[in-house]
Parts: sequence; C-alpha cells; structure tokens
Amino acid sequence: MVSDVPKPMIPIDGKPLLEREILSLRDQGITEFILTVSHLSEVIMDHFGNGHDLGVDITYFEEKTPLGNAGALFQLKDQLTEDFLLINGDVLFDIDVNRFIAFHNEKKALVTLFTHPNDHPYDSGLILTDEDDRVIRWLTKEEERPLYYQNKVNAGLHLLSPEVLQKEIDKEKIDLDRDVLKPLCGDRMFAYSSSEYVKDMGTPERYEMVCRDYLSGKVGARSLRNKQKAIFLDRDGTINHFVGFLRNLDEMELNPHAAEAIRKINASEYLCIVITNQPVIARGEVTFKELREIHNKLETLLGNEGAYIDGLFFCPHHPDRGYEGEIPELKIDCDCRKPKPGLFFKAKDAYNIDLSASYMIGDSDNDVLAGSNAGCKCIKIERDGDLREAVDRILGK
Ligand SMILES: [Zn+2]
Repeated sequence: MVSDVPKPMIPIDGKPLLEREILSLRDQGITEFILTVSHLSEVIMDHFGNGHDLGVDITYFEEKTPLGNAGALFQLKDQLTEDFLLINGDVLFDIDVNRFIAFHNEKKALVTLFTHPNDHPYDSGLILTDEDDRVIRWLTKEEERPLYYQNKVNAGLHLLSPEVLQKEIDKEKIDLDRDVLKPLCGDRMFAYSSSEYVKDMGTPERYEMVCRDYLSGKVGARSLRNKQKAIFLDRDGTINHFVGFLRNLDEMELNPHAAEAIRKINASEYLCIVITNQPVIARGEVTFKELREIHNKLETLLGNEGAYIDGLFFCPHHPDRGYEGEIPELKIDCDCRKPKPGLFFKAKDAYNIDLSASYMIGDSDNDVLAGSNAGCKCIKIERDGDLREAVDRILGK
C-alpha cells in the first residue's frame, strides 16, 4: 500500500477503489453521491470533481475537525431526506444493490446491514438475528458469544432511513456502530445475508488478495446480477451424522471430511447450499426455534473448521395427518418436500442460480430425484459417506 494515497484512492487494477465503488453503483441506477473527506481530501476532490465525467453527481462534506465516523451524517441530515446507502471507502464489492434495497423496503427497515458468512467466525464480530432477520444482538469480536451462533458478519455496507438521524446524540465524536446502530438491536434493524463479494482492505495482505480476486474475475462473478452455480447438499447423512429424525442439539455432529469438503466448495466458483426435509417440525417434535439452534450448531462446527454454507432451505412439512402433537397447518402435501424440487426453486430465486449448471449431493434416492426434478446433476453418496470425494469429482480434483 502507498502511504501518501488516501485509502479509497488505492488502485485496483489501475482504477481507484472508490471509483470502482461509484461505477458499480452508477451502473445500477444510483447517481447521487456525497463523499465525506478529511485526510488528503484534495486528492479525492481533484480526481472526481463534480462527478459528471463519470455520469454521476458528487458533492463533498469536508470534515475539518474529527467528528467520528458517523459525525458527518448528522451534519448532513437536512440533505438526507430519503433512505440512503452508507458505504465505507475501503471496501471492494460487486453486489446486486437493487436486491439489497428491495429487502430493506420489504422489511420497512430503519437500518439494513449487509452481512455475509466468513471462514473465521470464531474470532469475528457477529450479528445475531431472529427468524425474521431482525438484528437482536451485535457482538464485537472481544465479546462473549453464545455456544452456537449463525455465521453472520457485518460487511460494512448499510442502508439507512433518515429517521435514524433524528436521534439526539450528545457527543463530540459519533461512532456509527456503537452510538447509532447497536442501540437499534431489537428494533427495525435487519440483516441482509448475501453470498456476494465484499471485502475491506484493512491490511496489505488483504489488499493483495482483493487485487487477485478482482483480476481473476471472482469479484464480479459472485454478484447476484450474474447467474450463479451451486453445489446443493443434503443435511442428515451427508454433512452430519445420520440419526434418523434429529431432534436434539447433541445429535448434530459433523461427518468426517464434511468441513473439508465444504471448504473446497467455498474456495470454488460454486455456492454451497443446504436443502433438507425437516418433518420433525410438522410432527411437533422440534420447534422452529430449536431447529434454528440446531443449524446454529451446524454453522458453528463448520466455522470452527473454516467452512461455511451460503444458504440453507428446509421443508417443515409432512403429508400424513393424524399424529399426536402434530401441527395441522404444516401437515400438507407441499411442493417443497424432496423429492419435489420446490426448495431448489426458492434457492434459485434467492441466489439467481443456474440449476442446470449446479449439482445435488445426497445420501438418499429422494435427494437424487429432487435434484433431477430441479434440473441439477446429482451424485449419491453412501449414508455418512465421503462427501469430500463427491466434491472432488465435481471440482475435477
Ligand atoms: Zn414443504
């Protein structure tokens, strides 16, 4: 990194990072920018001017005295009359921003955080959400965490309603996370979880990695504006040890090599998405909350080994009625219980997946049938068999 260049002006394949951020958003219809500048501000202002050369409008807020990383926002509150994106200047991303905005609008959120899984959740700050994606806790990396948790890390892109700026904060310096966002836990603050590429360049190593990823095409390929490929995985008997109906948290144990197999998927061009039938919900044996905890354990065990899943879709239904304790409204002949392909279609919409370029790996005939019904290529493994070997076959290793 070059020390007399402000961070947002560090080149990525010959263009300043900040220019790449602006161009990516411009191409998706966002054309008004306010840049808050302090350190070496003239370098940035000389480069971008009023933005017209790039086809956008840029204005500046010059911070004469340090106001904290959210101080400028409060100074600008008369100008910020509509929901706006708030983006750190040292993050390289290529996201489908209109999906992000649609989520924010659908939730009627005050704030939406862009989150993603990473390969070291055990020492990252974490965002904990409820079933509705509402942020309920926000943990720094130093804070004690629950035993099992979702692999959900704040990526540094936010959507904010101007309503947030109406709050009086009586401080000289205002810190975005601590003073503005964290107090909104449990309120209308939501997490948008995505598989897209967003990385900050905090260290020289990260900068080099980001440049490599950019040149290899990985950054753009992960944008949900482009078709994705996925390796779908069954859960029980494929990733974790088969116990019949899994009802207790203690029974969730990874199969040998499962984490290694998923790490390989993570490093490849494929998304890793779990598709599982969980009739235990309809049978009244496991609640949605308990199932979430079981999946938190799955994510935690994988995270401890540097692996993560990009998405998980489950069918809570079961067709046969007449059992004690069952939940009648879930006892239906749904279109998502494998071998039906409904969950694959849900995943396809959520991640813009090309199903014909994707694979399903599972340990039962139903998995193979479901995958074929969805138009995927399928691999059947033994129950609790070697997932790594199946993944290697797909990746050609
Ligand atoms: Zn279903």
